[in-house]
Amino acid sequence: MTLIVQKFGGTSMADVDTIGIVADIVAATRRDHDVVVVVSAMSGQTNYLVDLARSLQSVPDLREMDVLLSTGEQVSMALLAMALKARGVDAQSFTGGQVKVSTDQVHGKARITSIGDTAIRNVLAQGKVAVVAGFQGVDQDGNITTLGRGGSDTSAVALAAVLHAQECQIYTDVDGVYTTDPRIEPNARRLAKITFEEMLEMASLGAKVLQIRSVEFAGKYKVPLRVLSTFKQGPGTLITLEDQQMEQALISGIAFNRDEAKITIMGVPDRPGVAFSILGKVADNNVEVDIIIQNTGVDGLTDFTFTVHRNDFRQTMDLLQPVVKELQARELNGDDRIVKVSLVGVGMRSHAGIAATMFKTLSDEGINVEMISTSEIKISVVVNEKYLELAVRALHRQFDLDQEPPD
Ligand code: ADP
Ligand code: ASP
Ligand code: MG
Repeated sequence: MTLIVQKFGGTSMADVDTIGIVADIVAATRRDHDVVVVVSAMSGQTNYLVDLARSLQSVPDLREMDVLLSTGEQVSMALLAMALKARGVDAQSFTGGQVKVSTDQVHGKARITSIGDTAIRNVLAQGKVAVVAGFQGVDQDGNITTLGRGGSDTSAVALAAVLHAQECQIYTDVDGVYTTDPRIEPNARRLAKITFEEMLEMASLGAKVLQIRSVEFAGKYKVPLRVLSTFKQGPGTLITLEDQQMEQALISGIAFNRDEAKITIMGVPDRPGVAFSILGKVADNNVEVDIIIQNTGVDGLTDFTFTVHRNDFRQTMDLLQPVVKELQARELNGDDRIVKVSLVGVGMRSHAGIAATMFKTLSDEGINVEMISTSEIKISVVVNEKYLELAVRALHRQFDLDQEPPD
């Protein structure tokens, strides 16, 4: 019998009623397939546990945090197994450790190094559904680890790869991947298909519908991946390899990220080693940098701007104060009220002028572009956060994303 991996996110596991809906979907799939189910914590539970931890220790111990957070998924897996049994579908739940999801030792954002398939294969051979806790694994010393927020997507894809599943289905509260987040643009359109490459860009640029690593894994191990709704029937969106027949829209979607902040050092001496003095210090403190811009020097001075995660903004400003003094730069400025809006599409490779159209559209709306970054299949701009909705909607309209592309 063919095997399907189905993952259900927090909103699907919100309460006993939605867990009942999930159990019905799994039971229906079980009629024709072997099924492995991966579950997230009940919605809001992970945030609740994070808040509890912070109220006891301002920077919670990383090991204990993972012990705590992994309980959310453990609750879900047991409840779903019970709901399945109540429907006459035999099922058995597993923690990450019980399935032997091995990871490195980076608590809070561990990477999977290997997954055992024996325990699951045994249970499937007995005709049961295997219900696996997402988001968690164990390191080489047996410590519980977690895979980063949204990590159950990655658990599901990794399991699908190891078990050679026919498809990995990510069930959530939207019925597929849309041209942009439908919460921001009600005219967003569901895509029937999107390439791994585009989905990876969308996820990296802020579309949280799939965790980035899950898309990386699916691309690498060629796992057919589909995003579907728990609450509305339909074909969802297939994430797939690029093929010639695919609708080659110029732009597939618009992603945005509200989690960034911008830092500028003005009047920096324009000489070798300056970028290293600034960014070296930032990297030494494990702060990741996204967009970087250095202006052309004038009179031996230049300006240097880059973006970091908003959570790292204060710390980065503080650690750059001494650097600014050492370099005898003029000024350090920061702005944590910015957002990054990005156009994504493989069709961009063969078309000039998209950037120009993007900038014109934003300027017609009176939106000032503060930074620009491009790659082969994306263009990103940084704008003030008050323009997020306006920018996304104007670009969505300009590039006709609400219309089916012509055949
Ligand atoms: P789950 O709890 O099921 O993992 P998430 O909240 O992680 O669900 O992901 C689903 C959400 O992703 C949707 O509710 C939607 O608001 C958001 N989202 C962002 N960008 C997109 C997009 N391009 N297409 C669909 N959903 C998107
Ligand atoms: N429960 C975890 C989170 O909220 C993992 C997940 O849902 O994928 O991030
Ligand atoms: Mg998610």
